[in-house]
Amino acid sequence: MRPVDKGPDQGVFNPYQDAQQPLVKQIGEYCSYCERWIASAIHVEHKRPKKDYDNEKLLWTNFLLSCSNCNSGKGSGKLELMDYLWPDTDNTFLAFSYDSEGRILISSSLPDNLKAKAYRTWKILGLNCHPDESIAGFDEPTDKDKRWLHRRQAWQKALRQKQGLAVLDTTERRDSIAETAAERGMFSVWMTVFNDDPDIRKRLIKRFTGTAINCFDEEGNPISRFGGQL
Ligand SMILES: [Zn+2]
Repeated sequence: MRPVDKGPDQGVFNPYQDAQQPLVKQIGEYCSYCERWIASAIHVEHKRPKKDYDNEKLLWTNFLLSCSNCNSGKGSGKLELMDYLWPDTDNTFLAFSYDSEGRILISSSLPDNLKAKAYRTWKILGLNCHPDESIAGFDEPTDKDKRWLHRRQAWQKALRQKQGLAVLDTTERRDSIAETAAERGMFSVWMTVFNDDPDIRKRLIKRFTGTAINCFDEEGNPISRFGGQL
């Protein structure tokens, strides 16, 4: 999950929907959780559900952006922020791994307490939805949930770009790869496919609006976030 930087606290938005454009400007038109680029109807997402936390309903600090799939899975109910991992406060790139089939897995290198938080985050957002029934914890996606498929398609696209780069490697082509990626989202998939190419990784970090740059070192490798849980 791409770690994002929402910038300075912008305070109160009433109605909360007014925060949509400032959020898009700050962190790009991507779902904060599944990372898809959302052409329309991107929702202002409340980290703590607005029904249950009325006093946080209008606060910038409680906002992210999400697609309808990630939003609907979350629902309502009491939620302790520290029980989960969040892309605006943690380095969530360290929490999950991505593969060629569109699966999201919990990083095996996490300590147990963070693994439990990553697991809850994965479940509540439905990031565990994938038709593969062989993996423990996976749920069957609904017909309307194509997130896994979009991840798989992004992987294939990124791989084609990587193969093309092996044939002809120019600065222009490298720049174009980052641009292509940023047009459709799926930051983590692209970062994973280009795992061994620090130059492309740095371009992706820069090109995706609002990526938290303090979550990566000079070679584009993820590092712990200052003040975060990981
Ligand atoms: Zn989403």
